[in-house]
Amino acid sequence: MAAIELLAPAGSLEKAKTAIRYGADAVYIGGQQFSLRSRASNFSLDQIEELCSFAHEHDSKVHVTVNIIPHPDDFNGLEDYLQALDQAGIDAIISASPAIISTALKMPDRHFEVHVSTQRSILNEKAVQFWKNLGADRVVLGRETPMEAIEQICKQGIVPIEAFIHGGMCISFSGRCVLSNHMTNRDANRGGCAQSCRWKYFLYRNNEMISDEQTLFSMSSRDLQAADQIEKMIHAGVASLKIEGRMKSDYYLAVVVGAYRRLIDEIEANGQADPEFLAEIIQELYRAENRPTGPGFYHGLPNENVQLYRKHDETVTQEYIGLVLEADRPGYLKVQVKNHFAKGTPAELFGPGIAPYPYTIDEIQDLEGNSLEVCNHPMDIVYLKWEGPSKAGSMIRKQRI
Ligand code: SF4
Repeated sequence: MAAIELLAPAGSLEKAKTAIRYGADAVYIGGQQFSLRSRASNFSLDQIEELCSFAHEHDSKVHVTVNIIPHPDDFNGLEDYLQALDQAGIDAIISASPAIISTALKMPDRHFEVHVSTQRSILNEKAVQFWKNLGADRVVLGRETPMEAIEQICKQGIVPIEAFIHGGMCISFSGRCVLSNHMTNRDANRGGCAQSCRWKYFLYRNNEMISDEQTLFSMSSRDLQAADQIEKMIHAGVASLKIEGRMKSDYYLAVVVGAYRRLIDEIEANGQADPEFLAEIIQELYRAENRPTGPGFYHGLPNENVQLYRKHDETVTQEYIGLVLEADRPGYLKVQVKNHFAKGTPAELFGPGIAPYPYTIDEIQDLEGNSLEVCNHPMDIVYLKWEGPSKAGSMIRKQRI
């Protein structure tokens, strides 16, 4: 079985490093030009260069989205920008624009691969072959591709295939939505999506309002969570498993990347994951801040149960309480406080290569060694008496009881 790539999003240098430490084989980021997520904290060329060095030292890769659908005025500086990305050491660009893709493919000494973005809505082997014939190195399938089609496409071995496994779904066909444009004049295909599908709307029938404050209508999809499909994808020969969410937090990335890393390693080592282990991974994925999740198109056509027509606020969890810093005192963890906690808090620690395990916080000290009862201030540095495996970058959260 060829090792499959776990591909994580990152909205900042620190988040990219977190994703890599927690097991991402590659990260994808936006540059400051020609990229969607125009409001996300996109990377400067210097930051991209720094990330490439870090990633390559950790056997990981960097993919850069160059994925706007450009209007005629958007092309200024494209060749120079692609050259600069190449010199920075990136491993791939992700693009949906035939103009950008053909420009990249014509670069004489290009070192990076060209991946065709999910925005091209590639759902079948003929479309994959079309992009292969044009010179693409990889195709990112549309999120609407059913599992049988993924298996069929991979069997043809046309070009490496990337498929989404986790994160936000569009209610519209991915990459073809004009809702945000229509409602706000913000173009989803140029990085400006206002997520209008997730707003709450009053419903009218024949000019009569049939909803009220309690029954506001929305049309959002549940987020994708495809842990139960990973085994099939690995056996089908998918090249890369993609997590969505360049705006997500460090904690989200650590939880989601760490959980899928464990699942992939288990399947690659044993050919499968037993049901108890899979259930544990799914429980772990629920610990990330999320909208409600569903299987997307992987269990067949989505029905009303994977749409969110009513109240569906994102769960904001305060359970992430501390980031473990470099160790400098035996028997204690040096911790940056993230959320309020107190002595006696039942906690658990997880980290790069460390599965979550429980431990009760029974001693807290400040940097001068004074005993503390509570930690109230995010970013404070404290010591926690601790027994059990840990390394810098591990995270401590409250147990869910
Ligand atoms: S408005 Fe909703 S469906 Fe449209 S692009 Fe944005 S997230 Fe996707």
